[in-house]
Amino acid sequence: MGIPFIDLKAQYRRIQDEVKSGIDAVLEHGAYIMGPEIRDIESTLAEFCSVKHAVGCASGTDALTMALLSLGVGPGDAVFTTPFTFMATAETVALLGATPVFVDIDPVTYNIDPADLRRKISMVHDEQKLTPRGVIAVDIFGVPADYDRIEPMAKNNGLFLIVDAAQSFGATYKGRPVCSFGDVACTSFFPAKPLGCYGDGGMVFTDDDTLNELLLSVRVHGQGKDKYDNERLGITGRLDSMQAAVLKAKFTIFPEEIELRNKVADRYARELAAVPDLVAPSVPDDCVGVWAQYCVMARDSRHRAELQAKLQAEGIPSPIYYPIPLHLQTAYASLGYQKGDLPVSENVAERIFALPMYPYLSNEHQDLVVSTLAKED
Ligand SMILES: *Cc1c(COP(=O)(O)O)cnc(C)c1O
Repeated sequence: MGIPFIDLKAQYRRIQDEVKSGIDAVLEHGAYIMGPEIRDIESTLAEFCSVKHAVGCASGTDALTMALLSLGVGPGDAVFTTPFTFMATAETVALLGATPVFVDIDPVTYNIDPADLRRKISMVHDEQKLTPRGVIAVDIFGVPADYDRIEPMAKNNGLFLIVDAAQSFGATYKGRPVCSFGDVACTSFFPAKPLGCYGDGGMVFTDDDTLNELLLSVRVHGQGKDKYDNERLGITGRLDSMQAAVLKAKFTIFPEEIELRNKVADRYARELAAVPDLVAPSVPDDCVGVWAQYCVMARDSRHRAELQAKLQAEGIPSPIYYPIPLHLQTAYASLGYQKGDLPVSENVAERIFALPMYPYLSNEHQDLVVSTLAKED
């Protein structure tokens, strides 16, 4: 009984022959690292994103690390980002010795608020302690950030823009794939992401030839002419051939899955109108989301707990993304943020919770989710 939060087995049943033959091919040729599958999926996904270069890597976190390393981020640098995201977004900045500067979010899209971004950039300029270097915009839950405002703001302030598209691979902003925005875009192929593999994986996208060369170098320990010539520090950041083979099989049905996800989301939006005091998510005009999560907002934390209890009684999972905004995480205590510093992020974190979302969610299961939420006490 119950409903899965994400049903990856339903997807596997559709593509199992292609997955198995792809993995068999890797086993036969034996090039487990940097086999021909890597270039193959890199060029397929670069074309899908309308971007010149794609560099496969070992995870979304490594994608961000490689982007920051290639852009030369280090101690004394400020990187502006949202606190309402997965740990990795700001963690990579801090691990390189740079300082994440948290910017509050928009209460509708939950993405970085351009007005607060402008304030925080001026603040760091005025304080003259850190060098403002760049912005990491996140398309949280697969809904694109406000690129019309963020991109020129980054450019006019001499800042780089990294798009953390770990949740939004396949989404479009005014007709443009999200991974075509910014100096560099990063995504993740963690199994639960919109395009996932069967382990860890990620990819970095850029139109810039110089950045592409740097990304290729830092992916393999900063290699230069060959692997025993090291020009800079890097990481072990490669995607492996088997995961690339899995991605190739999954990509054949990915465009169709984006449509199915949007059908599920549209149906939720229509039906959830019957649930009082519940805010359904929305996508800005002329954008297509990919619904990495379908998150709704309750009136307050008590209302959320009541609704989650009803769902739990029916075996319906409703995890919270994200209960603690990053600026209040113990790991960032040294940055000195206090409760109240980023009020929209804090308010959303108290009210939000996710409903089951995947391309193969049946109408019956979806109706059960909605009727459970609508049930009178
Ligand atoms: C999942 C995720 C990452 C990290 O990806 P991994 O592949 O798990 O390392 C980074 N940023 C966001 C917004 C994510 O959701």
